[in-house]
Amino acid sequence: MPPLPIPNAASPQVRRTPEGPQGRLQYDLYIGGEFVAPAGGRYFETTDPVTGEVWADVARGSEADVDAACRAAQAAFEDPAWRGLSASARGALMRRLGDLITENADWLAAVEMKDNGKLIAELDNQMRYMANYYYYYGGLADKIEGSTIPTDKPGVFNFTRYEPIGVVACIMPWNSPLPLTSLKLAPALAAGNTVVLKPSEFTYASLLEFVKLIELAGFPKGVVNVVTGLGHEMGNSLVSHPLVERIAFTGGPEAGRIINEQAARSMKRVTMELGGKSPNIVFEDADLEQAVKGAVTGIFAASGQTCVAGSRLLLQRSIHDDFIGRLVDFLEDIRFGHPSDPQTQIAPISTAPQLAKIEDYVRIAQEEGATLVRGGKRASVEGYPNGLFYEPTIFSDVTNDMRIAQEEVFGPVLSVIPFDDEDDAVRIANDVKFGLAAGIWTENLARGIRMTEKVRAGTIWVNNYRSTSTTSPFGGFKMSGIGREGGIAGIMEYLELKSVWISTNVEIPNPFIRR
Ligand code: NAD
Repeated sequence: MPPLPIPNAASPQVRRTPEGPQGRLQYDLYIGGEFVAPAGGRYFETTDPVTGEVWADVARGSEADVDAACRAAQAAFEDPAWRGLSASARGALMRRLGDLITENADWLAAVEMKDNGKLIAELDNQMRYMANYYYYYGGLADKIEGSTIPTDKPGVFNFTRYEPIGVVACIMPWNSPLPLTSLKLAPALAAGNTVVLKPSEFTYASLLEFVKLIELAGFPKGVVNVVTGLGHEMGNSLVSHPLVERIAFTGGPEAGRIINEQAARSMKRVTMELGGKSPNIVFEDADLEQAVKGAVTGIFAASGQTCVAGSRLLLQRSIHDDFIGRLVDFLEDIRFGHPSDPQTQIAPISTAPQLAKIEDYVRIAQEEGATLVRGGKRASVEGYPNGLFYEPTIFSDVTNDMRIAQEEVFGPVLSVIPFDDEDDAVRIANDVKFGLAAGIWTENLARGIRMTEKVRAGTIWVNNYRSTSTTSPFGGFKMSGIGREGGIAGIMEYLELKSVWISTNVEIPNPFIRR
């Protein structure tokens, strides 16, 4: 096993993760500012997707652990050490955390790579950029203002104020563990809440290393807690816990639906960042060289394991065959390899169940009559016989009613669908249950603008794909989600709005005398 990353010299106080009885790193729960063993004493193994080796064990939390974490978060919420901090002081803590992320970005990237096998080149950028979430929301913390309302009632003064909600439960997927955590954690903390974080059972190590930086930054104990375990086993106790007032979930549509139903029973507020089947639409008047790169970025970056994957490529009929030829040429010399190698362009699929799902969909597509243009099989990569590598895969002759066009694969599988004109493109683009993102490629500005109005998705890119920013809202239409993360909209999700009425008239009218 390659040596595990250690905290860099900039953070000598960071605690080392201990080894367990198996001689592997052992990750415990993080509750009330302490790393603690799970109540049931059980752990489960985690596997490196490149080598297939088991490299660490993680606590298999249960209802008792969830309860302890929620109580710690509630106690911290009520404690003046956190509740008594001014919004400016909270902002300062968050900026300190941002600095610590910048100093430790290499370390965080290396642990996250070990966790989910993503390319180190991409992770380096992501981890450095992640500091911006804490700078941005730290800066926003003391700029959330209520208003004075000119009401139609004389003798009373009415104003509004925003308040934190309380304990927030954040549930994350495995594809981008720390950035997706930060999209929730940064606004939740800036708003003054306390949190219980539940990472995916496949990727938790980077988060359990990251919380050490939260500690170093000086956040009071219990403000941030982490419970690990199997979603279906202990997720329900977190979602239904009476102390949890809000749930922020990123994951698949099925888990999202279950969690949303559970949350509704106790009227918990939710944000849901779910899946997509995003169209990448190329018109005949597009700059085709750019559009080819955009199509490849859309579906094959991170091996297609992104929620915004442009998994449906809609091509105007006149350029259909030529464009597919260009795509195939572009992918000809693609390099697989270890994600830590800067030469590697395609990293493995992150988990074995995800690889099995991809293989299932490739089989289904062929059974439904789609034509396999390239890929459609595992890639064998020298030196990594157990690596979960999969070839970038392209299907043509896809019709929009096929499962491969309607369901999220979450892997490097592209469905190419032809269209005739603008109306046809809009009809096909919108004919799915999802509405997360869309790409539009055209040199005709008026057409580009028309399409941004007609395509139903939370994010639309014209002549680019995958641009995102801390400062911009992100979220889905339809089954792709509820609420927004990022930007000012992102922090409003973590605040309650209170309306306050103050009498300026000492005379309270007798309620039994009709006026
Ligand atoms: P998943 O739904 O299987 O799991 C997500 C998280 O939910 C995990 O932590 C899991 O343990 C937990 N979970 C599962 N069942 C639960 C339950 N009943 N109660 C509580 N928690 C439960 O998703 P995944 O496979 O980890 O991630 C891939 C999915 O995430 C894809 O569908 C992808 O589109 C989506 N995603 C969406 C966005 C976005 O911003 N819209 C971003 C990234 C990923």
